[in-house]
Amino acid sequence: MLEPKVVVALDFDNTQETLAFVSHVTPSLCRLKVGKELFTMGGPELVKILIKKGFDVFLDLKYHDIPHTVAKACQAAASMGVWMVNVHALGGVKMMRAAKEAIQACEHQPILIAVTILTSMEPEDLKLIGLAGSPKDSVFRLANLAKTAGLDGVVCSAQESMMLRNEMGKDFCLVTPGIRPKGTENNDQKRVMTPVEAVEAGSDYLVIGRPITLSKNPVAALRSINESLIIKKS
Ligand code: C5P
Repeated sequence: MLEPKVVVALDFDNTQETLAFVSHVTPSLCRLKVGKELFTMGGPELVKILIKKGFDVFLDLKYHDIPHTVAKACQAAASMGVWMVNVHALGGVKMMRAAKEAIQACEHQPILIAVTILTSMEPEDLKLIGLAGSPKDSVFRLANLAKTAGLDGVVCSAQESMMLRNEMGKDFCLVTPGIRPKGTENNDQKRVMTPVEAVEAGSDYLVIGRPITLSKNPVAALRSINESLIIKKS
């Protein structure tokens, strides 16, 4: 059995709906992502329930604060037993180093990745916050900074996966949202890739929400994505 590459984004606004969805999937089919909305609602209790069911949980809270605060938040995440946690690379190298050192001091050590530039930001938005150059330049610079700080990888769009895979080496973890299997709605995602294209471009894990959670048959949707990846591999 291959390790699941799909991380289902649990973008539900209540615990009940979340657990109803989770009751249909298994840890061998997918990992799970808990973001700000669901965590604010369900808290560590919900995360612990998901972990107890055997799932790898990506706690997507994108910490960005002074180094001490981020380090403590990462330790709290690690103590919950999450599989992956993230920070904003824009918090700087000192903050990222503090996060890494804090996790290294923990018994359970989650994978630590950084968000570079949010895919919702356009060149004009970067200019307004004082970031010169193209989004791609900033992504490259911030991914390098994350690597220098000892982080395990970054969240990036699949469009950037190939560049980052080539530049950062094979062990740098690339986690990619904006994935749409053929024939599904783009929703608000602009630059999308199919699961197979993203893996071919170098992505390690695919964060997929609505194509699975809003599907009439989420398990079938998930299985079909997993099968497309196995077929491609063989
Ligand atoms: O439903 P969909 O597949 O678009 O969900 C993608 C998930 O990935 C959402 O939880 C979204 O917040 C997250 N995400 C993203 N783009 C980023 C970072 C995270 O879509 N750059």
